Amino acid sequence: MRKIDLTNFTVATSETARDINRRITLNLIRRHQPLSRAQLSRRSGLQRSTVSAIIGQLIEEGWVTEGATRTTGRGRGPRALHLNVERAGILAVDVRPGTTRVALAGLDARFVMETAWPTPPSPAAFMTEVARTAQDFRRAHHEIVCEGMGVSVAGRVDAAGRLVFAPNLRWPAVDLRQHLEAAVGLPVSVENAASACALAELWFGRHADDVKHLVAVTVSEGIGVGLLLNGQLVHGHDAMAGEFGHATIVEDGHPCLCGKRGCWEQYASNTATVRSFAELAGSPSAAPAPAITDVLRLADAGHARAIEALERSAHYLGVGLAPIINGLAPQVVVIVGEVTAAWNRVGPIVERIVKARTLPMLHTSIVPTDPATQPRLRGAVTLVVQQHFGAPSVA
Ligand SMILES: [Zn+2]
Repeated sequence: MRKIDLTNFTVATSETARDINRRITLNLIRRHQPLSRAQLSRRSGLQRSTVSAIIGQLIEEGWVTEGATRTTGRGRGPRALHLNVERAGILAVDVRPGTTRVALAGLDARFVMETAWPTPPSPAAFMTEVARTAQDFRRAHHEIVCEGMGVSVAGRVDAAGRLVFAPNLRWPAVDLRQHLEAAVGLPVSVENAASACALAELWFGRHADDVKHLVAVTVSEGIGVGLLLNGQLVHGHDAMAGEFGHATIVEDGHPCLCGKRGCWEQYASNTATVRSFAELAGSPSAAPAPAITDVLRLADAGHARAIEALERSAHYLGVGLAPIINGLAPQVVVIVGEVTAAWNRVGPIVERIVKARTLPMLHTSIVPTDPATQPRLRGAVTLVVQQHFGAPSVA
């Protein structure tokens, strides 16, 4: 139970109760569709008349569609209710240091359209590009009514949607949400990519319904950690919670873009793998760095130095994960990033290190995400989805 925040509360009205019942109904349909009104009444404990009133409203607003009547031996059967995934189009943006991806999706996080372009060096140029892409997508699919835009970004974002810390992106602090809303003319939600991925696992992941303590780790140019505890994202003071990527794991180690030395992300990120590979290959520092996908391809083909570089990062991935698991006792840790494509090689090393360094009574599963689901873009979609389906905040 949460203590009532006396500096920020909303008293319950009859409207609040209606909103809660409506959201419960909508979620039951989303989770268990197709459902009839009678099944909804049984599952929710709401009166049949209340369910019918809510469904009437949801159908009128386009959130729910009614399937054809199944005729049974005894005449007309109940009508099956479905969630209308086309009710709201969502623009999803994933901003990484090298590449920005933009997609148009439905409420089921299936992508209708997708594109990518190099991430501009300045936030101002980025806003212009996003606005142009959003306009192109909406023109191409004018039948889809866009409800909002979700943005997952390689950095920390405060409650107002301001980017407050983005060392890998090398952007200054900027009011991303406000500028993007002005540029695209839609409500915009901005969140740290790892936090968005954690939310996406809650809403779209294949975990049990009772998963409430989940940690998402994005292994990319740096390492991001999203914390979902007691079913809620943890942001911490000034929205800086989750920066395990900058925990020191090697005393006086490699310098990091945050200004410190020996940070976890300098040893377990894609950047670290690529650096190890270049070091092992004895490449001159002026030589162009290979992409992580090149190292992964070489490792897959049996290239010894690529395998060693990958295994070195896998070792450190485990080293950094162990204190997170010991300290937070999540049910699941999901790993997001290119490295999941090599999980058959990376996974056993991570598992071994974590097992050796965590308490024996902890039962945390470490699960790679499927790159095909585009976890970071799906995270951006989830930021908008949860506004329609999430629990309302009362008191
Ligand atoms: Zn650092």
